[in-house]
Order: sequence, then structure tokens, then C-alpha cells
Amino acid sequence: MNFKFKILVTGGAGYIGSHVVKALGERGYQVLTYDNLSYGHREAVLYGELVVADLADRDSLRKTFEYFRPDAVMHFAASIVVPESVKKPVKYYRNNFCNTISLVETCIENGVKNFIFSSSAAVYGIPDKCPVDEQAPLNPINPYGRTKAMVEDLLADVAQAEDFRYISLRYFNVAGADISGRLGQRRQDATHLITLAVKTALGERPYLEIYGTDYPTSDGTCIRDYIHVDDLADAHILVLEYLMEHGKSEVFNCGYGHGYSVREVVEATKRVSGVDFKVIETGRREGDPPELVADSRKLRETISWQPKYNDMEYIVKTALEWERKLIG
Ligand code: UDP
Repeated sequence: MNFKFKILVTGGAGYIGSHVVKALGERGYQVLTYDNLSYGHREAVLYGELVVADLADRDSLRKTFEYFRPDAVMHFAASIVVPESVKKPVKYYRNNFCNTISLVETCIENGVKNFIFSSSAAVYGIPDKCPVDEQAPLNPINPYGRTKAMVEDLLADVAQAEDFRYISLRYFNVAGADISGRLGQRRQDATHLITLAVKTALGERPYLEIYGTDYPTSDGTCIRDYIHVDDLADAHILVLEYLMEHGKSEVFNCGYGHGYSVREVVEATKRVSGVDFKVIETGRREGDPPELVADSRKLRETISWQPKYNDMEYIVKTALEWERKLIG
């Protein structure tokens, strides 16, 4: 029934985008990925067409819309490294904000009314309470988070003014990989805990650092809500269907609502890999909130999302297998 819906996916060759393209393709949607391959990979696009172009290239964007005539746009293409955003804010405001304005404008010009946006828990900054729900104030503490919050404002205003609706998904800590080994995270400059932990377990790095052991948490290390990328991809399909059916703009947290400390993640990685790798406790990393856990009731209740991989060992296992495959 869905085969007639055409979905344009920006950043569909990247980590999260490629898992969503897989989920869309498996359900019979027609997909076109629009990606400049700056971080994405051609072979990660398992379904549909790929247009290699930059979002800043308005001409190419316009031609792609005219050619494909999408029913909805899913927008993943963005710069995502928080420390880099502090050093190169212009790059982040341009890639994440300016390019999204162009994309939204192109949607309006072409009568595309449905838009799914990859937002981030970074919009909350350091929340007053955890689990944090969607009503919490937005206080991003770095340029990356600010660009995401600015796009959310843009979308809300556009949805008021135009025949346009959107869903913004605020991702918590996305991790893991496709179990069949076809997709995963592939960055030389990886900064995320689970990626670095599995690289250390496989001997690609001499040790793993724990950034801060004096936080006001049960074991002194930061707590995060890690969500498996395939569960996140499923949530995208469900919100897309919800948006197409109800035409109602919404913002949803995307996490399991359960937190793990850095030490718990390290222990899980040691258990799953069977390697007692070296860990060094160092000082805090700037800008890290002690705890960031989603209140995801709204997502579960509104779209009947039933996550399948809410299991740290499964997340680590799939990340580990993917990394093993990458190093060959
Ligand atoms: N972290 C760590 N060592 C690392 C990478 C991350 O201790 O090598 C910690 C980091 O300080 C944070 C948590 O792990 O408390 C998750 O960090 P990550 O970069 O994966 O995601 P973030 O929550 O910053 O988006």
C-alpha cells in the first residue's frame, strides 16, 4: 500500500539515514537519497536512488524535487560533532540551519507538505529534571544544539504560516548497527562512547578514557539513554505514517527512558567482547550534562512504538560486529 509514497531522504548515506532508508525500502516506500557523501557512503544506500549533491546547491535540489516529486522529506543531513561545532560555528549554522531553510523553502515551492526532522536531546542542554519530557525548556549549551533548536523554531513558524507540517524527533544517544552487518557508523573522527569502547576492545585504540567520575550520579559517571539505531529507524517509519495520516505537527523524544552510566557501558563492552581493555579515568569533558534520559511516553503512546532492542548488550554486540567488519 505504501509503494506509492515517495520519500526524499537527505543524508540517507550516513549512519542514521542509511538505517532509515533500509527500513523504508523494506516497507515498500520509494526512496531517493540526497547526500553529498561528505560522511556518507554510496554502499550504505540499500534501497532506491542516490543523488550525490550538496544541500547548498539550490539548483540541484530544485531539479531533484521536480524529478522525484516526493510526498515527504526526511532530513538527516547535518554536521553532528559537538566539539567541532564550538570551534567552527559558522560551518554548523550554515550546514544545519541555512541548508535547512533552503530545503524547507524548496518543499514549499514544490508543494511538499510533510517533513521529518532529525533533532537532538542537545536542545535541552542541561535539563533541570530527568527523565526530560518534550515540554522542558530548550537551553542548548553549544552551537550544535542551538542549530537544532533554531530549526525547530523555523519549522514551528513555517507550519503556522504555510500548508506544511512536520515531526521533529529529538534523538538521545543513538548507537549499535544493523544486525546483518550491512550498515553501521563509519567515521574516522568518532567521539561517541560506544564506538570508542568497541574500537578499544578490538585493539584499535590503546585505552578508553572515562571523562569525569565525580558527577552526582550513582557511580560518579554520566548517565545517558542509548537507543539502538534500528529502533530509531522504526520510530521514523511510524511517525511518517502518523504525519501522513493525521497531518499534525509534533515533537517527540526518541530514547528508551532508561539510562546507563559510562561505567556500565564500559562493563557491558568488556563482557560482550570478552576483552578487559585498559580504561583511564580523566577529568570531565566540557559541556557534559550529568544525566540525559528521555521521557519517551509521548512517542510510545502516540504512535504505538514498541522498541525491540532495548538491551545494552545487543547494542554493544552489533556495534562490535560492525567495527570488526570495518577493520576486516
Ligand atoms: N564519554 C567518555 N569517554 C569517551 C567518550 C564519551 O567517558 O571516550 C562519555 C561522555 O563524557 C558522556 C557519555 O560518555 O558522558 C556519552 O558521550 P557521547 O559522546 O557518546 O554522547 P553525548 O552524550 O555527548 O552526545
